[in-house]
Amino acid sequence: MRKNLIWQILIAFVLAIISGVIFGDKIAVVAPLGDLFLRLIKFIIVPLILSTIIVGITSTEDVQKLGRLGGKTVAYYLLTSLIAISLGLFMGSIFKPGLETDIKLSGEKVEVQESEGVIDTILNIVPTNPIESLVTGDILQIIFFAIFIGIGITLVGKKADPVKHFFEGFAEIMYKITGIVMAVAPIGIYGLLAPVIGEYGAHVLLPLFKLIIAMLITCLIHIGVIYSVAVKTWGNMSPITFIKGMLPAAMVAFSTSSSSGTLPVTMKCVEDDLKVSKDVSSFVLPLGATINMDGTAIYQGLTVMFIAQYYGVDLTLSQLGIVALIATFASIGTAGVPGAGMIMLTMVLTAVNLPLEGIALVAGIDRILDMMRTTVNIVGDASASVVVDASEKRRAYKEERVLAG
Ligand code: ASP
Repeated sequence: MRKNLIWQILIAFVLAIISGVIFGDKIAVVAPLGDLFLRLIKFIIVPLILSTIIVGITSTEDVQKLGRLGGKTVAYYLLTSLIAISLGLFMGSIFKPGLETDIKLSGEKVEVQESEGVIDTILNIVPTNPIESLVTGDILQIIFFAIFIGIGITLVGKKADPVKHFFEGFAEIMYKITGIVMAVAPIGIYGLLAPVIGEYGAHVLLPLFKLIIAMLITCLIHIGVIYSVAVKTWGNMSPITFIKGMLPAAMVAFSTSSSSGTLPVTMKCVEDDLKVSKDVSSFVLPLGATINMDGTAIYQGLTVMFIAQYYGVDLTLSQLGIVALIATFASIGTAGVPGAGMIMLTMVLTAVNLPLEGIALVAGIDRILDMMRTTVNIVGDASASVVVDASEKRRAYKEERVLAG
């Protein structure tokens, strides 16, 4: 059944490329199929996160474990984000995508987005009205709310059992619905991908070809080397199993350009195929879909180099350090929705005084870069769940051995 699905998705992929090339922008007629699929997976997100986090916490019955999970997850996310941005900068200096580029700026003005300060961002995690967080789909606030409901249920004990059972049943229902929606993924992916392929002609892609290739290779290295080494050494999992298991989610991420939108599929792949325990994945993945964006970090490193090269600016070592630092925060602050990474680029460019107009140079191909970075973003979240899960299992095993004497 699953093998079938992967094949169907692959076929949809190939068909989308072929029909995009043949029909050009006329293929936009199939876009509603993609939008329908996107709506279907998005409608699962809020109830899925709420119920699975609550169930995850009530089933661990261990508040200390939660702190440990949080610490390991955030440490892994920060480490891989820093590696990603450094890799982006490094590959940018090797490929030199911004030299001898034959593109002219159209003179469009780039609007600088006001981003909220670090303190406000952190304060904002605490919802003043959790129902509002559910309604607006603010994932960090929902995670916060769900964690506290979970802890509350555990502390109350027997009296809270009906609520606990309710959420257990509810989470199962949401998993079932995710499975049903996945069955139509091939049609949805076709509907999302074909119009994108049809929209881009060679005249848009060719001048930025070097940048696209540099991005592709860097993303492949990040998945093929960094994540593979991490899941192998810390997660005791073969990289092949890992990549194979993540294929459906990677393809959904590639065609939707939204890590938040892909979240239900990421959770399904990680739990069903990579066999990560639900209490780990239900916490690590929603958090990752919101704050861990390695693909976005790669993109920011590469495009900063691209824009600097285009304008003939040599970045000093300390400026590169600033870029690495700011881009790490910028990637954390990037929402898991299409195009968000490009908006956050303003923050990084401003930090090293590069002209914001440079963004207009890459804006035309942003969707293509977005597809790649979103894929890396969700594969990165999945690798974290494998690594954290394995380390929790090792710990549990050791504790059992100690108890057994
Ligand atoms: N589209 C990306 C994501 O959802 C974010 C970005 O634009 O970099 O992960």
